[in-house]
Amino acid sequence: MGFLQKIQQFMYGRNGFDSYTFFLLILTLIISTVNFFVWGYWASLVLYIIQLLILGYAAFRILSKSVHKRSAENRRFQKIWNGVKNFFILQKNRIRDIKTHRYRKCRYCKATLRLKRRRGKHTVRCPKCRGEFKVNIVV
Ligand SMILES: [Zn+2]
Repeated sequence: MGFLQKIQQFMYGRNGFDSYTFFLLILTLIISTVNFFVWGYWASLVLYIIQLLILGYAAFRILSKSVHKRSAENRRFQKIWNGVKNFFILQKNRIRDIKTHRYRKCRYCKATLRLKRRRGKHTVRCPKCRGEFKVNIVV
């Protein structure tokens, strides 16, 4: 039996690599980069231990046979990650549209609406849930 086949057999029924594990590995890379600039012995040691713990956790996730639990964790991670990503995309769009549009949350369904920048109080209708509510655009 070839080496690759042996690995395949070993990994059968295990969680393997997912986006949460990928994030953990990137995190250890970031920590080791930060650690490069940290000179204090104890601070450096603590960062090193944190890095080892995260690596250990990543290895545990890859080898874990509780695939259902691990994929539930992965889904939770992706949800949080998408939230973070969308937050930054929104801030970027806010700056891009600062002269022409304002962003407001729908009061009912929490969708973010992109409104034309017209000063004063207006009634807007959410295109998603059709709910109407008032907005006040000051600047
Ligand atoms: Zn709505």
